[in-house]
Amino acid sequence: MIRSAIVPPHAVCAAIETLEHAGHTAWMVGGCVRDSLCGVMPHDWDLTTSARPDEVQKLFPNVRLTGIQHGTVTVIMDDMALEVTTYRGEGSYTDGRHPDAICFLSRVEDDLARRDFTINAMAYHPVRGLCDPFGGREDLQSGVLRAVGNPDLRFTEDALRILRGVRFAAKTGFEIEPDTVYAMYRQMQRLECIASERVFAELNTILTSRYVGRALRQYRAVLAVVLPELSPMFGLCQHNPHHCYDVWEHTIRTVEAIPAQPVLRWTMLLHDSGKPHTYSMDETGIGHFYGHPKMSAQLTQQILKRLRAPNALRTEVETLVALHDHGLGQDERQVRRSLAKHGETVVRQLLSVKKADYTGQNTFPIHLQELQHTERLVNGICAQAPCLTLKTLAVDGYTMQELGFSGTEIGEGLRWLLTQVVEGHLPNEPHALRTCASEWKESRHDR
Ligand code: ATP
Ligand code: MG
Repeated sequence: MIRSAIVPPHAVCAAIETLEHAGHTAWMVGGCVRDSLCGVMPHDWDLTTSARPDEVQKLFPNVRLTGIQHGTVTVIMDDMALEVTTYRGEGSYTDGRHPDAICFLSRVEDDLARRDFTINAMAYHPVRGLCDPFGGREDLQSGVLRAVGNPDLRFTEDALRILRGVRFAAKTGFEIEPDTVYAMYRQMQRLECIASERVFAELNTILTSRYVGRALRQYRAVLAVVLPELSPMFGLCQHNPHHCYDVWEHTIRTVEAIPAQPVLRWTMLLHDSGKPHTYSMDETGIGHFYGHPKMSAQLTQQILKRLRAPNALRTEVETLVALHDHGLGQDERQVRRSLAKHGETVVRQLLSVKKADYTGQNTFPIHLQELQHTERLVNGICAQAPCLTLKTLAVDGYTMQELGFSGTEIGEGLRWLLTQVVEGHLPNEPHALRTCASEWKESRHDR
């Protein structure tokens, strides 16, 4: 839906003026034009110009040259970083991921022709208005993603565009136009050549986008090229009264049901990836997936390593996938144990994971009430700032030394005291802990 006129920030207009005053032409281009036309505030403003990088560099006092090999100079104005790229064409792509050489051009239309989708191939000028040689505005209006030019050729040049297509569909909810979709399917194996980090970045955006469910349903074959571990889930019937969807449809519904944070979305995408490998049917015809969280965690590790996902995300997702079926407790003592074992952050993430998992099982999820009860217990316990870690225990290693503890006995003694506090057998109070520690030490020596 086209909603608004383009209102560029002052720095963008000033940069265009500076370039044009020096005899060049310059335009805003790409995502910022697309987003402005939809009434979405662009998160960055890119410019395209006839000026060569060395000429751009001379015209602005504050520049960064990190993208100069692609013809891009970053101009800093009013605290904004504007990427200014010379009108550019690309030569042949022998590896399907990088142009063998880039060449500079003199017409903006030729620069737009090398861009991926028509909605991304528009330029805008504060005086001359919109430059739209491929019908991007009309496609934006009708909600269509269409490759610029011959789609097979464009995907052969750079296969990442296939995944970018799924990404834009997931973000906007637009339909990909049939010729473009067929070309995506014909060329999708080329995604195997794309650098893992770039694939991961696109998948991350797809997973945290508004129309992720539709994208996972419609373009699962494309996603399976970069995530082949997903394929066995497609259409796998669970033969289980708790589940009315197959494993893939269940997965999609859980992804949709959880907040759009990368860790949580990756967790839901992969939480049941081990199911196809652990399936069994009992004598009554009911399907089971014993041990699937462990298998899913192994696959998660394999996938996120291959995609070179950041370590912190990998560790968090692996933990949540491994624990997704783990009970957090239905009474205060059990919940305190869970909090002491996993920490409040993981317990709260697991509450979200379980809620999404139950929501995706059936049209009428029956376990949600139990989960609400657990959540109330978690809230109640955490509100009292309880002692659940050694750090918050009212005695420390020095106290234990004063009581005559030494060596490994100190750590053992502290952990034992913590368990007594977590279980509610002891208050977290120095006097009580000291007395109990001494008794524990004596009882060990008597044995
Ligand atoms: P976002 O809002 O996610 O940043 P964007 O469209 O700005 O979306 P960028 O990756 O920032 O995406 O790219 C800027 C522009 O460069 C795109 O709008 C498109 O015109 C062009 N572009 C980027 N990557 C490619 C590619 N692989 N092939 C062709 N054109 C591309
Ligand atoms: Mg951008």
